[in-house]
Amino acid sequence: MPAGFTHDVLIIGGGAAGLMCAATAGARGRSVLVIEHANRVGKKILMSGGGRCNFTNTGTSPANYLSDNPHFCRSALARYTPRDFIALVEKHRIAYHEKELGQLFCDDSSKQIVAMLVAECEAAGVRIATGCAVERVIAREGGGYAVHTAHGVFAAPSLVVASGGLSIPSMGASGFGYALARQFGHTVLPTRAGLVPLTLSGRPQEQLADLAGVALPVRAASGKVAFDNAMLITHRGISGPAILQISSYWQLGQPLHLDLLPGQDALAVLQAQRAARPAAELKTVLGDLLPRRFAQRLCEHWLPNRPMKQFNEPQLRQAAELLRAWPLVASGTEGYRTAEVTLGGVDTREVSQATFESRRAPGLHFIGEVLDVTGWLGGYNFQWAWASGHAAGEAV
Ligand SMILES: Cc1cc2nc3c(=O)[nH]c(=O)nc-3n(C[C@H](O)[C@H](O)[C@H](O)COP(=O)(O)OP(=O)(O)OC[C@H]3O[C@@H](n4cnc5c(N)ncnc54)[C@H](O)[C@@H]3O)c2cc1C
Repeated sequence: MPAGFTHDVLIIGGGAAGLMCAATAGARGRSVLVIEHANRVGKKILMSGGGRCNFTNTGTSPANYLSDNPHFCRSALARYTPRDFIALVEKHRIAYHEKELGQLFCDDSSKQIVAMLVAECEAAGVRIATGCAVERVIAREGGGYAVHTAHGVFAAPSLVVASGGLSIPSMGASGFGYALARQFGHTVLPTRAGLVPLTLSGRPQEQLADLAGVALPVRAASGKVAFDNAMLITHRGISGPAILQISSYWQLGQPLHLDLLPGQDALAVLQAQRAARPAAELKTVLGDLLPRRFAQRLCEHWLPNRPMKQFNEPQLRQAAELLRAWPLVASGTEGYRTAEVTLGGVDTREVSQATFESRRAPGLHFIGEVLDVTGWLGGYNFQWAWASGHAAGEAV
């Protein structure tokens, strides 16, 4: 280690990206200190995937990420793939399974993933300081950084910011990484909650609130983007995987369009039902295709309810169009309190895609969610944390 430094590498944030970076750099012989202000590392990993951590997605590709600079993530994702992380999981004999669409979960508990990362850090001689609040960071004359903390001052030629985004403040999330980025001349793109339930207000909220708990498969579309998955009606709005996914693309004021019979031709379905059951009312017909209470509600507020034979062709087309693209105006999101991720963040144009080093401040690195790279729901966010953490860990 160069004279005058306490470590080769300081990492602020002992979450997914920070621990991966620490283990990788430590395994290369670097002396590494992870500075974590919470009382334990990996809190978000622990709560992830309903306690079973959806730790990767076998179908990961750059197309699964949102960023103002969409090609930035390509290199790191190609250099550390889901296969690499699965090999690590298998090395630690952690049993896992595929749930759907390439999403891999622990059979047992997300605690195993945290234990695995901590074990890798220990094997690589990494020091982890928990309950260690950072007071300030100073660029030293002649290079390197001094980090003033509750546990004293540490200094190293390389400083890695792995402090995550703003979601779930109660788990240790802070805007610290963004403030530090600004301190060193970086642009921070506007942040907002992603993978988050949407709220309704006024009439749609009143019309749906008592259906809280009803779930159905939909195709949720906002602009040109659409996701096929389940939607759940909540007391305050809508949630479920399809809604969480589309929430990352949805902008306030934009309508959402929900295909209530995804994968089916709604007009053909209605025409067939009219031929087969001419005396049945629309709500009865829809009650066999959708959750019954939801179908009834649709026919109270959005669709005319009468026997199928009383729908002429244009009227049937109108009903089919509503089922294909039910318009719902969300009034907002549930915010960072429940969001899984933060969209926006440190502008990746000012960071090397190979080493994750700042183009503004030599020796400073940004990895994980603090960067303007946000994955879809389904293990993509952890894969980004592993891939970016690994790339920086190879470089510092
Ligand atoms: C409820 C929930 C469930 C999720 N489930 C999944 C899932 O199943 N699959 C998936 O891929 N993604 C999931 N995510 C997203 C995933 O957890 C994050 O994308 C990922 O953890 C980001 O990794 P990170 O290392 O960048 O940040 P984090 O894991 O958030 O780690 C940042 C760390 O920095 C620490 N920190 C912050 N500020 C400071 C400071 N000033 N000083 C010192 N330390 C600081 C924090 O305490 C934290 O430990 C979920 C998120 C949530 C909230």
